[in-house]
Amino acid sequence: MHNKTIAQLANELSTNRISSVELTQLFLDRINRLDNTLNSFITITTEKALQEAAKADSLRAAGNTNPLLGIPLAQKDIFCTQGIKTSCGSRMLDNFIAPYDATSVIQLQQAGTVLLGKTNMDEFAMGSSNENSYYGPVKNPWDTRCVPGGSSGGSAAAVAARLTPAATATDTGGSIRQPAALCGITGLKPTYGRISRYGMIAFASSLDQAGTMTKTAEDAAILLNAMAGFDERDSTSVNTPVPDYTASLNDSLQGLRIGMPKEFFGEGLNSDIAEAIQAAMKEYENLGAKLIDIELPNTGLSIPAYYVIAPAECSSNLARYDGVRYGYRCKNPVNLEDLYKRSRSEGFGKEVKRRIMIGTYVLSAGFYDAYYLKAQKIRHLISQDFAEAFKKVDIIIGPTTPSPAFAIGEKSNDPVSMYLSDIYTIAVNLAGLPGVSIPVGFTKNLPIGMQLIGPLFSEARLLNAAHRYQKITDWHAKTPEEFN
Ligand code: GLN
Repeated sequence: MHNKTIAQLANELSTNRISSVELTQLFLDRINRLDNTLNSFITITTEKALQEAAKADSLRAAGNTNPLLGIPLAQKDIFCTQGIKTSCGSRMLDNFIAPYDATSVIQLQQAGTVLLGKTNMDEFAMGSSNENSYYGPVKNPWDTRCVPGGSSGGSAAAVAARLTPAATATDTGGSIRQPAALCGITGLKPTYGRISRYGMIAFASSLDQAGTMTKTAEDAAILLNAMAGFDERDSTSVNTPVPDYTASLNDSLQGLRIGMPKEFFGEGLNSDIAEAIQAAMKEYENLGAKLIDIELPNTGLSIPAYYVIAPAECSSNLARYDGVRYGYRCKNPVNLEDLYKRSRSEGFGKEVKRRIMIGTYVLSAGFYDAYYLKAQKIRHLISQDFAEAFKKVDIIIGPTTPSPAFAIGEKSNDPVSMYLSDIYTIAVNLAGLPGVSIPVGFTKNLPIGMQLIGPLFSEARLLNAAHRYQKITDWHAKTPEEFN
C-alpha cells in the first residue's frame, strides 16, 4: 500500500478497499518504525492526523469525491500550521507555534488531505544537504551515509522512503528539484507566483516558491490543482487562471521541441548522469519529440548573482527575529543591545549567519551598486537567455545536479563546492520559471534526476512531458531496499 501513488490511493479509498484512518495509521506506523534512521520529520502530528482522517472518511461516506480526500501528506516545516510547531529548521523558531495556517496549507486541508507531520529542512531553507538543520541532518534512504539534498531534504527522504505518499516543499535556488533528484522522486517547482507564499516563512522573497514532492508527475498535477491560484494576501501571487493540470497529462508529444543547453552538459557533469540523460532523450525521440541544441550563455553567472540577491533578501527578511516579539530569546540580557546580539547569535546557525553578513554587506551604502544592482542586471540577462531559447523550443531538458548524493560531511566545510550543487537549478529561480525533476536512472546505488524547464506558467506542458516519460519507464517506481 505504501508504494502506491496518490492517484492509486484515491482509487483504493473511493472503492472502500481501505479507509483514510487505516491508511493514515499505516503511514504513522512506518514513520515511527523507520524515521529514527532518517530523521526526516521534526514533528509528527499523530492525533490531528487520525482526527482529520476520520473526518475525511465521514465526508466520503456523505458523497464527497475530491481526489485528495483522506490522502495523508507531510508539510515542510517552513509552512505555518496553526497550533503546531513551525521551526523552519532553526533554533530561532524552536518554540514557535504558528498562530495561523499558510494559504497552501488551508488549500490542501480543504481538499481533504491529512497532515502526518512537519518535515526536516536546512535552517531557513539555506543549504543543499540538510546538514544545516538545528534538528540534525537527514539521511538519504538510498544510502544512509549520504545526504538527501536540501533544503527540502526531509520532504524528499520521507517520500523516497515511503513514509508519506507526498510532501510539500519550497525552492529558492533548487531546494525542491535538487533533493528530489538525489532521492529519486519527482519534484515540481512551479512558476514564481503560482502558489501563494502567504504563511511560508520567507528566505529570499523574489525567489521563494512552494511546490511538491511526489512519486509521479501525475501526483504533482493532482496536488498542484489544489495548491495553485491567486491569493489576495500575497501581493506576488499571480491572478491567472488555474487549468486542470491532470487533463493534459496524456497529450501527445509528437513534434514537441526539446532544447538541450550546451552549458548543462559541459565540464563538471558526472558521466553516468550525462549518459542517463542521453538515454532519456532517446525515449523522448521515440515519443515523437525533436531535440534541438540551444545555448544559455549566462548560465555561469547564475550562482554568483544568486549569492548576492538571496543573501541580500534574507538579511532583510531575517531582521524580524530580534528576540523581542517571538522566537528564541537569550537568557538574562543585560540591556537591549545584548538582547538583540545574543538572541541572534545563539538562535541562528553558522550558514544563516554567513548569509546575513553577506547580505548586509552587499546592501550597504557604497557597495549596493557594485553588487546588488549588478546582480539584478545579470538576473535580467539570464531571463533573456531563457526567453530567446523559448522562441526555438517548447521545453528545455538537462541534468538536475552535476553529481549524485554526496557523503554527509563531505562538503560541509566548503561552502562554495556546496553552492555548486545548484548550478543547473538556480537560473530557473532567477527567471521565475517552472521546473520539474524526475528520476531517470542510477549511478551505483544512487538515483539520477533530470530537469525539465518550461516558459512561465507552462506547468501543464512540463507535467505532460514528465508523465509520458514515466508511463514508458519505471525509475520513479523504484524503492530503496531497506524501506521497501
Ligand atoms: N541551496 C540553495 C541555497 O542554499 C538553494 C536553497 C533553496 O532553494 N531554498 O540557498
